[in-house]
Amino acid sequence: MALQLFNTMGRELQEFRPRVAGTVGFYGCGPTVYNYAHIGNLRAFVFQDVLERSLTYLGYRVNHVMNVTDIGHLAGDVDSGEDKMVATAKERGQSVLEIAKFYTDAFFADIDRLNIRRPTTVCRATEHVPEMIALIKRIEANGHTYMAGGNLYFDVSTFPAYGDLAKLNLDDLKAGARIDVDDNKRNPFDFVLWFTKSKFENQALTWDSPWGRGYPGWHIECSAMSMKYLGEQFDIHTGGIDHIPIHHTNEKAQSEGATGKEWVRYWLHNEFLVMDKGKMSKSTGNFLTLQSLIDQGYEALDYRYFLLGGHYRSQLTFSWESMDSAKNSRKNLVQRVAGLLSAGAIDPAGVTADALNPDSPAQAYLGRFTEALEQDLSTPRALSELQGLVRDQAVPATDALAAIAKMDTVFGLELVATAAASLEERRAAEAEIASDPRIESLIAERAEAKKAKNFARADEIRNQLKAEGILLEDSPSGTIWHRA
Ligand code: AMP
Ligand code: ZN
Repeated sequence: MALQLFNTMGRELQEFRPRVAGTVGFYGCGPTVYNYAHIGNLRAFVFQDVLERSLTYLGYRVNHVMNVTDIGHLAGDVDSGEDKMVATAKERGQSVLEIAKFYTDAFFADIDRLNIRRPTTVCRATEHVPEMIALIKRIEANGHTYMAGGNLYFDVSTFPAYGDLAKLNLDDLKAGARIDVDDNKRNPFDFVLWFTKSKFENQALTWDSPWGRGYPGWHIECSAMSMKYLGEQFDIHTGGIDHIPIHHTNEKAQSEGATGKEWVRYWLHNEFLVMDKGKMSKSTGNFLTLQSLIDQGYEALDYRYFLLGGHYRSQLTFSWESMDSAKNSRKNLVQRVAGLLSAGAIDPAGVTADALNPDSPAQAYLGRFTEALEQDLSTPRALSELQGLVRDQAVPATDALAAIAKMDTVFGLELVATAAASLEERRAAEAEIASDPRIESLIAERAEAKKAKNFARADEIRNQLKAEGILLEDSPSGTIWHRA
């Protein structure tokens, strides 16, 4: 089967055919770094990562580009409100670049904890203003712009395909479907390409341009940077569904307005993560960060596991109960992988994804896993194949581990390494106990007591050790011990 992806452009599953066979150019909208990323934002980046990993798993060479918005994103997506970066800088008495650096570092720390691979290229808006100016000049030369009130606007009436991606009806718009406070606009859907004399008098970062000293609108950065690193036409563009009606619609209009060619072949959008109570919003500060989950006793990979359990096009509701269940399932999975390692006395360093025999019974699981990914990246179905595999006693441990390692190149849960670390911890704890003569003699005394049917004494010893955090487990081959 070939890879099928749901293309927002056309709203249907389509067979994925990249422009150049075997390679994928892929641009994902990155974070606006005026605050910490919330766990909803992080869903968008785990999705980009799963897409990148799936394409790599399926044999493509992926060129993944992501931007960092450190200028120009206003509080309202339709050119209204204050620049988000400037507002935070003012509030803190710091420069915009200081704010950007702080939250960019925090973002990448979150990305690393979630085991999200770094994109091939990460590009910052403030470092690409000349490219944006060059692109705006082309848009202008093609007759898509007008100056008003000191700003340069994109004139959507010159671009008939404007409403395609979001299925917008321009007549509805004109009838006032969107309330906009910018009187300079001829059409409420017009948007700013370049600000000069704007409402933000004390904008700290400005650049010279043919339209006067000023700064770029938010959308132009993605068009300019994607074209710089991926060419004027590329395969995939991603973002959250909130980006469809404004940001991506505007990116597409200005890109195609500049080049006269189709810009992106496949538009992929992740659904939102919602809270069981209230809306999560980065600008109001009402949100959960990855750190707040960690402070509650979860690991970042528990959250990653929770996200993998939902399809990227389904809305996912966050709750602490669902985090508990993700945490338990992941723990269970790791224990099973540890069981496979210890049952086969397998050296984790020798487990590799390519070591799987073609006749192995694990291949059936991998086959269904691949099909699940090929059907619009169905991670829930792919996960259930992994769950089936770790439970299947008929699959030899070495084969199961090789297949798990292969699946995990997509899941990114580091299952073999985590299982090996948990075994190591357990062995270290056992060695510590085994080398403690007092505990050893208590365990021997308990065995004697049991033989003599003195169960009261045997229980007493078990409880005494339990109070010290040492748990005993009786097995046919004797008593094993570990720390609670
Ligand atoms: P921002 O930093 O606001 O530019 O957003 C970064 C990414 O997060 C964008 O792709 C948004 O579409 C996406 N996003 C924002 N809120 C959510 C949410 N609650 N769930 C999933 N994705 C979101
Ligand atoms: Zn973008």
